[in-house]
Amino acid sequence: MQTEQYDAVVCGGGPAGVAAAIAAARHGAHTLIIEQTGAFGGLGTQGLVPCFAPFSWRKDHLLIRGIGWEIVERLRSISGAGDGAWIHTDPEKLKLLFDRMLSESGVIPALFTTLTGAEVADGAIASATAYTKSGARTLRAKAFIDCTGDADLAHLAGCPTEKGDSDGRMQAASLCFVLAGVDVKAFEAFRESIGGGLAFRQFIHDSATAGKLHDSDRYQHLASAVCPREESGLIYFNYGHLYDIDGTDDDSLTQAMMLGRELVHDFVSFARSDIPGMANAVLMASGTLPGIRETRRIVGDFVLEESAFTQGRTHDDDIALYDYPVDLHDTSHRTDDSSATNPFLVGGVREIASKITYGIPYRTLLPKGVNNLLVAGRCISSDRPIQGSARVMPACFATGQAAGTAAAMRSHTGEGLAEIDVEKLRETLLADGAYLTERDQ
Ligand SMILES: Cc1cc2nc3c(=O)[nH]c(=O)nc-3n(C[C@H](O)[C@H](O)[C@H](O)COP(=O)(O)OP(=O)(O)OC[C@H]3O[C@@H](n4cnc5c(N)ncnc54)[C@H](O)[C@@H]3O)c2cc1C
Repeated sequence: MQTEQYDAVVCGGGPAGVAAAIAAARHGAHTLIIEQTGAFGGLGTQGLVPCFAPFSWRKDHLLIRGIGWEIVERLRSISGAGDGAWIHTDPEKLKLLFDRMLSESGVIPALFTTLTGAEVADGAIASATAYTKSGARTLRAKAFIDCTGDADLAHLAGCPTEKGDSDGRMQAASLCFVLAGVDVKAFEAFRESIGGGLAFRQFIHDSATAGKLHDSDRYQHLASAVCPREESGLIYFNYGHLYDIDGTDDDSLTQAMMLGRELVHDFVSFARSDIPGMANAVLMASGTLPGIRETRRIVGDFVLEESAFTQGRTHDDDIALYDYPVDLHDTSHRTDDSSATNPFLVGGVREIASKITYGIPYRTLLPKGVNNLLVAGRCISSDRPIQGSARVMPACFATGQAAGTAAAMRSHTGEGLAEIDVEKLRETLLADGAYLTERDQ
């Protein structure tokens, strides 16, 4: 078994992992990033999630900047991102951009490399183990960064985590997909004629109730987001709810993919016969990763709570500011009202988000029990509701950048990650383009 030594090892190459690795390498850390699939980008590429959430809910003031916004600008420069507040993305261009940015920064990339174990000694991760086609790799690092989305490394290292609600139930998962061969203009005209996006969601719900689409105990047709690309005749769908899926359980993940494909093909048959503009639609691709919204969250000394959002709370050690609403999808099938399946659509949280900003403190990246591990992305130390905000990609870029920067600082000074000079970290983030000044509430 090979044993390798790095300054920073990033586990998981989604939005958080890519930003973490780039930040660490740009600050001089000898950095490895491992990713279990064949491309970087996580749900933004392999999951076919079709757009970045707003980088600020209030259109006049960008909150997430730094590496996240650099990604947007560079993606736009290769015609891979749209101009709206919800930034439509081209997953293939995003894969290419991430490859290029990681290479330019000097990060060592390792695709098809799966984290499988961790050895802990004296309050630190002594090594992590990864599976590859060429055999097992033993990875040692001054700092590890867990960006698996599921807090896999924290869990393997014995750090405390929580999962789902008090009954362990998690938000519904979705298998995103893309249709080709759509007459987008005709579809758009139809959607407008019935009243727009929410009315289209109701149309899908009514069609399922009428038996034209087939819901089951385990899944439900639901058009969460429909992103048409008129110029190419493609429509990206963040569609359907898959219930009782646990993204940390391999049987459950298998079910998610198989149920998801049933749901998607059922929709495509229906779309070809019943949705104007879709008569010639073909399923071009469905995600190679299931759209998992929620699994483990680390429980650090500090847990970010929903009240930070509702009260617009900031903290001395904030490494990002954000305002995306609390976006929690249901945990089980509801038949009453299509809009109720995601209270985000109807709740007052949107109104709050248009007025306040909350801070994400450095302490949310610090798990308990080991002193050389940071966590970034959707599994930071938070309660469930605020995870429903901090899980979207702009926030993951920001927590990733902060974790990578902190890891590089540690690799230079050798101190524990909880002991680093947070003011210096904030200054470095500011110098690297992040935005940390509280705006007017
Ligand atoms: C259906 C759906 C729709 C969404 N819509 C939007 C949206 O419109 N806009 C938005 O901004 N956000 C959206 N989100 C949220 C967002 O996409 C995710 O929360 C975000 O991608 C999380 O980033 P991450 O880097 O933490 O994790 P992920 O994107 O999940 O990336 C984790 C990466 O780690 C890898 N990995 C996992 N375990 C291991 C391991 N053991 N070894 C090696 N590699 C591993 C995975 O393969 C993956 O590449 C959506 C999420 C879902 C599920």
